Parts: sequence; structure tokens; C-alpha cells
Amino acid sequence: MPRPAAWRELRDEGLETAAPAALPSLQWPAFLVTQLLQPLPYESSNVFARILRGEIPAQFLHEDEHCVAFRDLAPQAPLHVLVVPRKAIATLGDARSNDAALLGHLMLTAVQVAKQLGHPEARFVVNNGAAVGQSVFHLHVHVLAGRAFAWPPG
Ligand code: AMP
Repeated sequence: MPRPAAWRELRDEGLETAAPAALPSLQWPAFLVTQLLQPLPYESSNVFARILRGEIPAQFLHEDEHCVAFRDLAPQAPLHVLVVPRKAIATLGDARSNDAALLGHLMLTAVQVAKQLGHPEARFVVNNGAAVGQSVFHLHVHVLAGRAFAWPPG
């Protein structure tokens, strides 16, 4: 459904999330949906940001210009590694189309790290949001291997 001209003007001026008072009441539902789709504000005090800044120690199993990998503090399998992008992205849902290459790189790195540690078969998990178990709001891929895994996951 085409958006009303008033909305397009707000969008073109970059004001669509900043000027709700200017919206006719019928446009409020669309405005609220837009708000819900906004990326989470990135909180730079999260533990992975602190590891990336060297404020908390971690032994990197892999590092390159785009990401690092280190063992999970509370392993849920004999192999439990986290692959973490250097870029500040809170959740997978906050990634944008210009992050596509980075997301591919994270997955390829996750596979490579698992293979190098003797696990050509592994489970790769991204918890996207608190409701599904995300506790650290800096994007990361869990690499799990070395035991049997149930499906569906719990
Ligand atoms: P998630 O629940 O998907 O956000 O995963 C966060 C993971 O980070 C959990 O598995 C934690 O055990 C792990 N974790 C938290 N703090 C550290 C840390 N300092 N070093 C390594 N892993 C950590």
C-alpha cells in the first residue's frame, strides 16, 4: 500500500522517526511499526566489546581484520567457541544489507575454526534477541561440537 505523501516528506527529510506529532492519527500504527523495527542501541560496555578493546582477557583462537574467535566461558559442549565480529552490531537482526559479506565471513570463519580444532561437523548457533536466549548484545556465532545434539533444540 503506498504511503501517504506526508510520510514520504518525513522520510525524505530523515524525520520519519523524529516527528510523530506531525503524523495524522491514521499514520500512527505505521509509525509504531517503524519504531519497533529500529536497530537496538548498541551498548559498548557489553562483555564482547570489552574483550575486543582488550579490557577483559581472552585467548583468541583466530583473529583477523573482521572478527575474533575465543572459547566460551561456560562451555555447553566439549568444543564451544564464539566467533565475534569487530563491528559493533548488537544482534543479527540489526545487521543490514551492507553487512552481508561480514555475515558470510563469520560463518566461514566458524566452520574453519571448528575444522581446525578437529570438528568438521559442528552446530552453529546465533541467538537473535533476549527472548531466544541472547545474553550478550554484540553479535556472535556459537560453534558447538564434540557431543550429540538434540533436534529440535531446547
Ligand atoms: P548468548 O547467550 O547467545 O548471548 O551467548 C553469550 C555467551 O557468552 C554465553 O554462552 C556466555 O557463556 C559467554 N560469555 C559471557 N562472558 C564471556 C567471557 N568473558 N568470555 C567468554 N565467553 C563469555
